[in-house]
Amino acid sequence: MATIVEYTDKKAPQNLYPERIVSPPHSRPCCFSDMEEIGTSRQEVRWVYLYKRCRTCGFTVRVILHEVPDAVLLAELRQTLQTAFQRNVPDF
Ligand SMILES: [Zn+2]
Repeated sequence: MATIVEYTDKKAPQNLYPERIVSPPHSRPCCFSDMEEIGTSRQEVRWVYLYKRCRTCGFTVRVILHEVPDAVLLAELRQTLQTAFQRNVPDF
């Protein structure tokens, strides 16, 4: 999965959600109580997830909320294929 979080201790923590988040590489004691959700949940292929960021130090993690069941993915794929093969037939 692609991530927008850059883990580094060479830059100051920064929240540029949804483009980019600069996070320290390790969590600290403050992270246990100060984590807050950023933005809304997102779906990437078969995972629904959101980002949580520490208000104090900026440490950010991606939290997997749940896995998307195969049935849902198949339904989406079917929908995509249907649209892909649709032709605009001119009526004479
Ligand atoms: Zn923290």
